[in-house]
Amino acid sequence: MSDPLSRRSLARLLGAAAGATLLERAPAAALAGVSSTTSGAAAGPIRLNANENPYGPCKPSLDALAGCGSLASLYPGAIQEEVRQTIAAQHGVGPDQIALGCGSSDILRMADSAFLAPGQKIVAAEPTFEAVLNYAKVTKAEAVKVPQTADFRHDLPAMAKACDASTGIAYVCNPNNPTGTIVGGSELSAFIAKVPPTCVILVDEAYHHFVEDPSYASALEVAPGRENVVVARTFSKIYGMAGMRLGYAVGSPAKIAALERCASWDNTSQAALVMALASLADAEVVPRQRRKLNDTRRWLCAELAKQGRRYIPSQTNFVMIDVGSDVGPVGHAFAEKGILVGRKFPSMPNWLRVSIGTPEQMAQFVAALNAVVPARAAA
Ligand code: PLP
Repeated sequence: MSDPLSRRSLARLLGAAAGATLLERAPAAALAGVSSTTSGAAAGPIRLNANENPYGPCKPSLDALAGCGSLASLYPGAIQEEVRQTIAAQHGVGPDQIALGCGSSDILRMADSAFLAPGQKIVAAEPTFEAVLNYAKVTKAEAVKVPQTADFRHDLPAMAKACDASTGIAYVCNPNNPTGTIVGGSELSAFIAKVPPTCVILVDEAYHHFVEDPSYASALEVAPGRENVVVARTFSKIYGMAGMRLGYAVGSPAKIAALERCASWDNTSQAALVMALASLADAEVVPRQRRKLNDTRRWLCAELAKQGRRYIPSQTNFVMIDVGSDVGPVGHAFAEKGILVGRKFPSMPNWLRVSIGTPEQMAQFVAALNAVVPARAAA
C-alpha cells in the first residue's frame, strides 16, 4: 500500500510516542496536518488503535450538531436533564438513577473518588481497561489484579474470593478490553451474589451493544435495582461519538448521588447532549452499526483463521491477535505503514489489539500484517 504519511509527520508521530511501546492515541500536536481517516475524513493514518467507530455518528446527530450553535453560550443544564430522562426511560429507571460524565472514563474516575479511600482495595481482572486502576492510584487504593482464565475471560470466582470488607470496588469489564471476551449472565449473577454488599460492583459495559453471544446479559438485567451495582455505558463506541465525550452511569439513587458529588459541574457539552438525544431517537443506529462492524470483524477473523493465526474470538469492535513476538516493534512497523494499532498490554506482550475499521481499512490491515508478521512467524 502507499504510505499516506509524509516522512516528517511520521517522524513527529513516532517521536511523540517515544517511551510508549505503541501509539494508542496520537497526540494532537503530532496529528496536526495529519487528519484521521475516522468517519471518512481526509487521508491520514488508519486509526485501528483506540476502538473508535469508523462510521462516526448517525446523520440525525450530525444534523443536530450543525444546528446547535445557538446553544453555545448557555450552560447545558436543561438539555442535561432531558438526556438524563431519556436514558432513564430507556433503562426503565428513575432520572435520579442516571449520572452523566465527560465520557464513561469520567464515570470510572468519579466511581474511584466516590467509592475508594486510601488503604481500600479495587479488584479487577488482568488484563483489563486500565483507566479505573490508574484513577485508583490517585485515591491511594490498592489494586488487586486477578489473572484471567485460560480462555482469556474474567475469573469471576477468583475475583469474588479476592473481595473482602476492605474492597471498595470490584471492576468487571464486560465485554473486556483488551480481550473482547464476555462473562455470561448467570456467572455475573453468581458473582454479584457473592461479593460483600459493602463493595460496589462497577460493571463497565462500553462494548455492550456489539455482543451477540446469547449467554451474555447486562448487569442491569441480571441485578436490576441491586444497591451495590453501578453500570457504566458510553456514546463513544456504537454511537461513534468518541470525540464528543459523553458517558453515563446507571445505579441506585444513593450510589448515583455519591458519584455526582465527585463530578465536575456541567461536565457535558451542549453539542454532545443534542447529538445523544438525536442518536437515542434513531432506532436504527445500534442494529446498523452492530451489523456493519460485527460483519467486518467476522471477515477479519475468517482471514486470520485461513492463515492459521491465533486470535481471541471477540464480542466487540476489536480483536486480539497473537503475533508471536513483542508487540512493541510490531506496532512501530505498522505505524510506518500508516496504520495505528493498539498498545501493548504487559500481561499479554505478544498479542496485538486491532480495532475494527471499514472493510477497506481491514483489508489494508491484513496486507500489512502479512508483511510485518508473515503467518508462519506468528504460528
Ligand atoms: N471502558 C472501556 C472498557 C473502554 O475500552 C473505554 C475506551 O476505550 C472506555 C471505558 C472509555 O470510553 P469513553 O471515555 O470514551 O466513554
